[in-house]
Amino acid sequence: MAVCMNSRWLRKSVLDMTAYVPGEQPRQAGVIKLNANENPYAPSPRVLAAIRREIGRISLYPESTSRGVREIAARLYRVAAAQVMVTNGSDEMLRILFQACVDAGDEVMAFTPSYTYYRTLADIQGARYRELPFTDDYRLPAALPLGGARLVFLPNPNAPSGTLFDLGEIARICRAARRGLVVIDEAYIDFADADASALPLLKHFPNLVVTRTLSKSYALAGLRIGLGFAAREIMMQLEKVRDYYNVDRLAQVAAAAALGDQAWLRRHMNHIAQTRERLSRELTALGAHVWPSAANFVLARFSAPPAAEIYRRLKRRGILVRYFAAPRLRDCLRITVGTDAQIDILLAALAKILPNKRRQKNRLR
Ligand code: PMP
Repeated sequence: MAVCMNSRWLRKSVLDMTAYVPGEQPRQAGVIKLNANENPYAPSPRVLAAIRREIGRISLYPESTSRGVREIAARLYRVAAAQVMVTNGSDEMLRILFQACVDAGDEVMAFTPSYTYYRTLADIQGARYRELPFTDDYRLPAALPLGGARLVFLPNPNAPSGTLFDLGEIARICRAARRGLVVIDEAYIDFADADASALPLLKHFPNLVVTRTLSKSYALAGLRIGLGFAAREIMMQLEKVRDYYNVDRLAQVAAAAALGDQAWLRRHMNHIAQTRERLSRELTALGAHVWPSAANFVLARFSAPPAAEIYRRLKRRGILVRYFAAPRLRDCLRITVGTDAQIDILLAALAKILPNKRRQKNRLR
């Protein structure tokens, strides 16, 4: 790439890095959007009511520490309010962790394939980024050489595989990371069983940080609300790095209302889990390999036609899924669990695109 005139004004780590590419947000209406793990259902009606009540106050700055949201989250997740931070999406929580913990040249590790934004943040900071590959069935590797890392990342459930790790495995990671914080990224944890969260481990491991988001399970991706959890002493330090008005008034009241409607959450999580199981079964019947998912998406591997072509042919039919031209993912598509009607349309399109099941199986051998 040609170096532009003003490149001398920018840091070398920024000039050298590649930008993160988010899932496409199409401008035309009517697209079936199964590419960004958004919730296909409208959020709790209490969220809209709360935003309507708050809208007259937007000329005033928001409460700086999102205290109301922290108190509700603390009650819900059985931690102290001082252990909670509310952020502008959980991506901001990740950025705060990098700014607070990572100097240029420091080592950062992530289990991969997983969320590639960790690498982007490491690149910005000029950190050394090391990948620890999962096994083929997305289990942890046998050895955990985490001793030198300032930050270690594991999404649970993992993205893009959807696979879940148990608390024993997370405890093993916390013990192995002797010099750094372990960040368990629970962006998709609400779609898994209630006892899957690492939050109870906060009592045992002072180096554990848990991040969550209201983007997926609570259907609030457009409002950008994340939550971070850590020991009080760590949170006190992270607080210094947070922008003091990072979460706007509408997002704060929306988050409080959403967290306050757990009946809405349970109903929608059950429904999405049912649709996910049907989608997994039907994709398997069409000849794909599908990893067991505890999230609101599935990773499916196809033998033929190439996954990139399936992606393009679905797009032509107005169905967007996620394709990653990356090692281990080139023959896969990540498909968000949409409404039942959207999944019916997707499956009908795939049935036309894919050769019949017997031919797929033979090719996989
Ligand atoms: N972690 C993972 C694993 C994700 O997939 C995403 C969504 N792209 C995020 C964090 C960030 O979510 P948000 O900033 O919307 O809270």
